[in-house]
Amino acid sequence: MAGRFRVVERVCVKNCFHIALLMLCSCAVVDGQDSAFDIKHWRALDDRDISALGRAVMRGSAGSWIHAETELFTYHTATRQRLERVAREAEWTYADVSRRLGLRAVEERGHLFVVENEGDWARVMRAAGRRADGVALHVGREIFILRDQHTGASYVDIPHEMVHYRLWQAYGREDLPLWLEEGLAVFLGWESALAYQQTRGLNLYRQQEAVEETDWFPWSELFAMKTYPDKPVRTAAFYRQTGRLLKEVVDGIGEERLGALVETLVHGQQSLRHVLETEYGWSAAEVDAMKERVEQAVKQPVQRAD
Ligand SMILES: [Zn+2]
Repeated sequence: MAGRFRVVERVCVKNCFHIALLMLCSCAVVDGQDSAFDIKHWRALDDRDISALGRAVMRGSAGSWIHAETELFTYHTATRQRLERVAREAEWTYADVSRRLGLRAVEERGHLFVVENEGDWARVMRAAGRRADGVALHVGREIFILRDQHTGASYVDIPHEMVHYRLWQAYGREDLPLWLEEGLAVFLGWESALAYQQTRGLNLYRQQEAVEETDWFPWSELFAMKTYPDKPVRTAAFYRQTGRLLKEVVDGIGEERLGALVETLVHGQQSLRHVLETEYGWSAAEVDAMKERVEQAVKQPVQRAD
C-alpha cells in the first residue's frame, strides 16, 4: 500500500488524550457479551501484509499476540478481553465517524495493533525513529494504540485515530490541511467517543488547561502549518485551537453538511473564510465572530463537558 499512496503519518501525543476523565453513571456497563470475534493464529490470517513498523511492534512487545479479522480490520492484541473491547469500539466508531464525515465504507481492511506496555511502546517507536511520547499512531492502513494501564488514554484514542484513518482512506492522495485534519480528529474523535461510551452506559467529561496568549497560533500561521509543533505546550494549544474551530464551524453549518465542506476544502484549495462566505452564506462579520468565539473558548480552562 505504501507504494500506491502518499504515506500520511499522524502521531498523537499525550497532551491530546490526557484530557478524558471517566464518570460512571448508574447504568450497567455492557461488557462481557458473548464474543463476536473469531480468534485466530497469525498463520491463519487472510491478511498478513503488515509494515516494518507493525512487525517491529509485534517483535518488540513482551508476551504473545492473538488476532482476529473482520471486514474492516485485522486486530492484534495481547489478550482476548482486550481484543473484544478494542474491536467493538473500533467497529462502532468506524461507522459513526464515517456517518459524521459523510463517507461510505470502502473495501479495504486495516490493521489495528494494541501495545500493552509503555516501555515496549517507547522502545519500538524510538528504534523506528518515531516520537516516543505518542500514545497512538496512524500510518496508512495501520493504527497503533498504547493501552498501558497507567495511561489515561483509553477513551478517546480509537475514535480519534479512526478519524485520521477514514480521512486517509478518503483523501490520502490529497494534501489535507493539517489544521483541518487534526481539528476533525480532535472534534469528531471526542464526539464519537462520547457517543460510543454512552452506548456502554458511561459519560465522559474532560478537563483542559487554558491556552496562554503566548502559545496561541495567529490564524494565518495556523492555516499554513505543515508540521506539528515541537513543544508539548504548543502541541496542546494546536489541538485545542483546531478542535474548537471545527466545533464552531460544525455548530454553524450543521453536521450533515460537514462532508461537503471537507470535500470543498480539500479539493478547492480555498480558505475556510472564502468557503464559508461563498458557499455557506456567512458574512465576513459572522466569520470574524466565530473566530473570536474560538479564541475566547480556548483561553479558558474546561472543567467538564464542552
Ligand atoms: Zn491526531
